Amino acid sequence: VIALDPGHGGTPDNGHPEIPFDPGAIGINGLLEKDLTLDIAQRVRQLLAQDLVQVVMTRDSDRYVSVEERSQAARQAGAALFVSVHLNSWTDPTVGGSLVLYPGPRSVPFATVMGQALQKRLAALGVENKGTELRDNWWIHATMPVVTVEGAYLTNPQEAALLTTASFRQSLAQAIRDGIESFDPVIARQKSAITAWNSAHPAAVVSVGGAGRTSGTVASRSRVPGSLLWVLAIVTGAVTLWYRRRICAFALSLRQRYGAVDGLGLLNGWAPRRRRQVRRRRAVAPMARGPRPHSVYDDLWF
Ligand SMILES: [Zn+2]
Repeated sequence: VIALDPGHGGTPDNGHPEIPFDPGAIGINGLLEKDLTLDIAQRVRQLLAQDLVQVVMTRDSDRYVSVEERSQAARQAGAALFVSVHLNSWTDPTVGGSLVLYPGPRSVPFATVMGQALQKRLAALGVENKGTELRDNWWIHATMPVVTVEGAYLTNPQEAALLTTASFRQSLAQAIRDGIESFDPVIARQKSAITAWNSAHPAAVVSVGGAGRTSGTVASRSRVPGSLLWVLAIVTGAVTLWYRRRICAFALSLRQRYGAVDGLGLLNGWAPRRRRQVRRRRAVAPMARGPRPHSVYDDLWF
């Protein structure tokens, strides 16, 4: 599960002045950061869904969401990574480029990979990556690696013009997808495993929905961890082994009562007490081998 967080959101409502709103930065061409972040995050979600990744969105419409609600949504969904999508702004219109912010040392590797992915996709379009930057007042309590992608500058005329085009927003979304997938190779491995399973079982195709939905199969499989099944199997095996005599004795009593139960004749000639005696005699037998002087122990039974 990947958490996507479209920055800002909400529209002022005169009927409800108590509801907060946050448009984010406003572009020199009138674009609003909150609209672009939602559009880009939805594109990333669609791209990730193609690779069978489950996505949780902290908002999926134009509404105000607090920082706590955003963090909680990611935690509750068990997200492995958190990507907050923003667009930058500055007083100097010549300043441009993409930037990746991270809250602490734990997120540095993810931020580095994300910066490289942005550079690879966007440099050719005129948006250079300016690297990574520590921003230790955002997402500092997150339980997973976090990056904030500042995709471009809304105050830079060239970049603001690029952001009006769907093709640039798609490239930015592809870059974010690339960053997530190169940092987390499990995605590619699981995708190929699911694809292989699906082609082997055409009647029961496993799919992962684009809007954070999952099919019942994937959901129920992921909710029961493999380790739990192993523990159950081992416990069942141990209990069966421990009570094997009682189970066999029960089966034997069934056979005596209903002769036809043991149709295969598996219990023919089986008697628990006789076996136990045979095993004991075997354990004692080597001591009796070979000539040796008679001792007082030979008269003892144990
Ligand atoms: Zn922002």
